[in-house]
Amino acid sequence: MGKRFETEILHGVTKKNRIITSKVTPIYQTSAFSFKDLDELEGFYHGNGRYLYSRVSNPNTDELGDAVAVLEGAPAGVATSSGLSAILAGVLAVVKSGDHIIAADDLYGGSFHMLKEELNELGIETTFVPFSDLLKVESEIKENTKLLYTESITNPLLRVENLNEVVKLAQKHLLFTLVDNTFATPYHCQPYLLGIDLVVHSATKYIGGHSDVTVGVVVGRADLIDRARSKVVNLGTNVSPFEAWLTCRGLKTLALRMKAQSYNAKKLAENLNENPSVEKVYYPLDVADNGYGAMVTIELSKKVDINQFFRSLGWVKIAPTLAGVETTVSHPLTTSHRSLPKEACEALGITQEVVRISVGIEHEEDIILQFEQAIEKSLL
Ligand SMILES: *Cc1c(COP(=O)(O)O)cnc(C)c1O
Repeated sequence: MGKRFETEILHGVTKKNRIITSKVTPIYQTSAFSFKDLDELEGFYHGNGRYLYSRVSNPNTDELGDAVAVLEGAPAGVATSSGLSAILAGVLAVVKSGDHIIAADDLYGGSFHMLKEELNELGIETTFVPFSDLLKVESEIKENTKLLYTESITNPLLRVENLNEVVKLAQKHLLFTLVDNTFATPYHCQPYLLGIDLVVHSATKYIGGHSDVTVGVVVGRADLIDRARSKVVNLGTNVSPFEAWLTCRGLKTLALRMKAQSYNAKKLAENLNENPSVEKVYYPLDVADNGYGAMVTIELSKKVDINQFFRSLGWVKIAPTLAGVETTVSHPLTTSHRSLPKEACEALGITQEVVRISVGIEHEEDIILQFEQAIEKSLL
């Protein structure tokens, strides 16, 4: 007997087991995978390479974790729902209630709040210290200190961390290390190869590169990534197959994008350095000859009307993110650092006049012209 209509809708077509060799991995937009019998199901638990349930693992999310791990020179990686959930999984892989973390005092705002508010409530205490002073970091190490946590290039003032020294300090005191490598990307810096245990990314930024996903990745030592993966599975912070797929697509052009964006950033930094209406240019030109990332931060002179400057930037838009292929600007004092007291911002050097520029892939001369014109049009 044929199936009735309601059944036919679901089971009318028998799936054929064709051998399909698509050039790119298709999107496995499925919450679960099916099995023909209990032996096959049992095989999953013995590592037969099959998939069970997409919160646990999925071909697209696996591909992203693996791809970033390869680029960082690390043995394993896991993709997550956001940069913050990657940081959470990385941190919880090595600390538990009662443990102590020492973190850089200029961490990304969201990471700072996770540690200070959420993890503190769960009994994980963090001391925030300027990592430019590693003697001070060392003096804060306590009996229950487990983790040193910093960023390879900081936001928004682009301080380059001395990761070799951080690794030495951690080895001396048997501490774990976690580095947020979002701004540098593995194109410019590979913290795992310098001895860092866990490397995290907001793949929302350069790894994805097109401002169309919110994704994170944590890579590092295989045993620690196993633990991080358990956190992702148990806390439900997995990334969707579609977003992982989009991120993998973006990742293919990471080298091309970083090459172009860093080149443009260096040219823009050099130009703004010569502009009398720019007080300071934060771009670590002296650290790496080929440029260090695609972010440039400037402090405008007080002779520039800052709001008029933003209005005069034409196609360069204000956006509270970074790392897309389009050049964008942000105003750290009123966005990323809004929740910090004004005095604390001043102490860090984040004043009303500070503008963070995420340099894109447009022609470098057009980018430079936009900034030159905007400064000229907003002189008081
Ligand atoms: C954006 C960002 C994060 C947070 O990432 P989300 O994807 O927004 O969760 C963490 N660290 C750095 C350095 C960032 O720029």
